[in-house]
Amino acid sequence: MSRNYINDTICVQGGYKPKVGEPRITPIVQSTTYKYEDPNHLADIFDLKEEGHMYSRISNPTISAFEEKIAQLEGGVGALATASGQAATLISILNICKSGEHIIASSNLYGGTHTLFSTTLKKMGIDVTFIDPNLSEKEILSYGRNNTKTLFAETISNPSLNVLDFEKFSNVAKKLEVPFIVDNTFPTPYLCNPFKYGANIVIHSATKYIDGHATSVGGVIVDGGNFNWDNGKFNELVDPDPSYHGISYIKEFKEQAYIVKARVQLLRDMGSSLSPFNSFLLNLGVETLHLRMEKHSENALKLAKYLESHPKVAWVNYPKLKGNINYELANKYLKKGCSGMLTFGIKGGKKKAIEFIEELELVSLVIHLGDARTSVLHPATTTHRQLSKAQLEESLVTEDMIRVSVGIEGIEDIVYDFERALEKI
Ligand SMILES: *Cc1c(COP(=O)(O)O)cnc(C)c1O
Repeated sequence: MSRNYINDTICVQGGYKPKVGEPRITPIVQSTTYKYEDPNHLADIFDLKEEGHMYSRISNPTISAFEEKIAQLEGGVGALATASGQAATLISILNICKSGEHIIASSNLYGGTHTLFSTTLKKMGIDVTFIDPNLSEKEILSYGRNNTKTLFAETISNPSLNVLDFEKFSNVAKKLEVPFIVDNTFPTPYLCNPFKYGANIVIHSATKYIDGHATSVGGVIVDGGNFNWDNGKFNELVDPDPSYHGISYIKEFKEQAYIVKARVQLLRDMGSSLSPFNSFLLNLGVETLHLRMEKHSENALKLAKYLESHPKVAWVNYPKLKGNINYELANKYLKKGCSGMLTFGIKGGKKKAIEFIEELELVSLVIHLGDARTSVLHPATTTHRQLSKAQLEESLVTEDMIRVSVGIEGIEDIVYDFERALEKI
């Protein structure tokens, strides 16, 4: 590139550069396989000496274009698309952590991540300590062990909307000499780039705003290329990999060691690959990400202000509201906006919350979030249903909480629907 384009431009044009006579739009390469003539050339591709696609479980041109665009948007050295956000989270951890080892995670997490960590990772022999993100640097540090392998948190937590204190968390990770993994699903690379604030690995559920239209489940891992794996703690990236004819990832791939290993070892073995068709749709979504994230953020702030002034509303949580406990962190790390996610409580608790949701017309009840249409959800009876009362409290999910994913419709119509439903209850 002759110029370092800004993210607005990368959203539209990043990742795919057609040659003369090739399709202008990233084509859907619906092919599992690729043709070669020279067996030695193919052997070199298998040995990772030559670049090229061999099998669509490992890589595919449509998916590569999407990965390249997301890597550019985050300012990373490479990306790996996965079948879902959950697969991205799992691979991001398993790439550097195995049975008998330990990770530290913020307790303010997406419910699915919480169960993945507390149940499935535990079964795999990986111990997870959940910490209150409001603890001091020193307190978080005190949970570090010799076998701690990563620190994990969300930029804006789902659904508590806690804004991550990047400075504090990245200091802890540096002191523990472990990578800092950030789930950047809510802000997307348009509203926040965690690598600027000390993150080493970023993951996304691409299912949400990256898709933006609720068509496809997908995930992506981005490598910041900014962690020294050769510090004595991450032998799997340094020592020869017997499952890949003795390759040393850091010797062969330098700053891309982590993301190459995730692909050729874990995606190869676990097979949680994205489909080319879903990748095409996700890429199409990203082409308008910059416009959508601005509108989502603008509408959410307006709705938050409206709800704040309503007598039937007990509380409103949106980090960009003056007086919100996350206001300063939001202004520090999320200058362009805080996405369309807000939560609020209705006076009268769970009963009134459910009545309110039933009265909505334009706004629909869905599990999903982050698409163009405004939607609501009652977390305590749905996404966070499997959590115990103590775990609910840890995740800051109250019984009166309604989560709103504010869409990009006209804000007048969104407010009207809320107003009418509030009147009826
Ligand atoms: C939805 C979500 C995930 C999981 O992603 P899927 O694509 O549903 O597997 C992970 N993290 C956050 C913050 C999410 O909102």
